[in-house]
Amino acid sequence: MALYVYKFGGTSVGTVERIKAVAEKVKKARDAGDQIVVVVSAMSGETNRLVALAKEMQPQPTDRELDVLLSTGEQVTIALLSMALHQLGCEARSYTGAQVRILTDSAHTKARIREIDEANMRADLDAGRVVVVAGFQGVDEHGNITTLGRGGSDTTGVALAAALKADECHIYTDVDGVYTTDPRVVPKARRLDRITFEEMLEMASLGSKVLQIRSVEFAGKYNVKLRVLSSFMEGNGTLITYEESEMERALISGIAFNRDEAKLTLTGVPDLPGVASKILGPIAAENIEVDMIVQNISANGTTDFTFTVNRNDFARAQKVLEGLRADLGGNTTIIGDNSIVKVSIVGVGMRSHAGIASTMFKVLADEGINIQMISTSEIKISVVVDEKYLELAVRALHKAFGLDQE
Ligand code: ADP
Ligand code: ASP
Ligand code: MG
Repeated sequence: MALYVYKFGGTSVGTVERIKAVAEKVKKARDAGDQIVVVVSAMSGETNRLVALAKEMQPQPTDRELDVLLSTGEQVTIALLSMALHQLGCEARSYTGAQVRILTDSAHTKARIREIDEANMRADLDAGRVVVVAGFQGVDEHGNITTLGRGGSDTTGVALAAALKADECHIYTDVDGVYTTDPRVVPKARRLDRITFEEMLEMASLGSKVLQIRSVEFAGKYNVKLRVLSSFMEGNGTLITYEESEMERALISGIAFNRDEAKLTLTGVPDLPGVASKILGPIAAENIEVDMIVQNISANGTTDFTFTVNRNDFARAQKVLEGLRADLGGNTTIIGDNSIVKVSIVGVGMRSHAGIASTMFKVLADEGINIQMISTSEIKISVVVDEKYLELAVRALHKAFGLDQE
């Protein structure tokens, strides 16, 4: 008897028919003798609908109330899926995050899981029931509902698998595995049979939304056997593994991109010790994550300082900078741009090969795409470009690095 955690994303539970199909699949596995914990997302579009509703009430709702609202999406699907299972004669019981007791910190809208109480789930599994858990949510030590950030149901799935020491965690979604890049942008993208944690982490952190980054971190840390598969068709999907993947033999394994980017530039900043921390300290204090940072060489004692943030944090970051302007002195001006994207090439093969960056830049130049910012690490190169070039850039790079399907 094996224990599996199955996670189904929004599209997979997007309609009554699809929820019924998920129930059939789960029942089949249970009937084969396996213990099944199912994690579900909200029905597709629901979380976005709730976010839009909140914004109609208040332009900047508090994160606590947002979490109370957003967590309702998943509560609907756990109940519906349990009903569908009952209808098939399969015993099942639903749990919200708080009912399981998925304890998180209090960072509303991006909470981190601290501890999972497995007692309820164990008791149900031992009694032969399917356990259905709401993804994306938890509860903090004061009893406040929290959510884990967009795409957070993946992390719920992997965290439950780790807590229960499941044999495998299956992430069922609307594509049949992890591809060399988003197959919606590049129809010639190739599905990978395997990908290493290292590469998957990099792809996820650079914007490949097929897995939430924290779910990959969790799986790596707790040695969870993680697989991405299609909920609509049979197949082995993609295994996330420690072993060397086929990708590693390629120079570039995949291309990731992120549309949720925004850029802020301060010009005419005095070039003095402590200026970077004067700018980024208050940004961090507002809980705004900074990604790329570039500072120019100074001319006449002043310099330009540019950094990127998530597009959702753009307005808040701009406000923080406005508040700092007087303090920074000089003739500091603030320029914001929230129509940029980040495109990255990823591959452990890069470690041992020079000249990848220049190839990347040449490919973009040949397409007439201007590079606004560059950042590199051992196994990735990222560039910031105007959002209108996103598809063109990704397709051109995918082809140039030999990733296109025959
Ligand atoms: P779910 O609702 O099941 O969680 P998501 O929309 O969060 O599904 O993630 C699946 C989507 O991720 C796919 O439909 C695909 O468009 C996108 N995606 C982005 N990058 C990749 C990639 N490298 N491989 C596969 N899918 C990717
Ligand atoms: N429903 C949440 C979202 O849309 C969580 C998830 O689907 O993983 O982000
Ligand atoms: Mg997702």
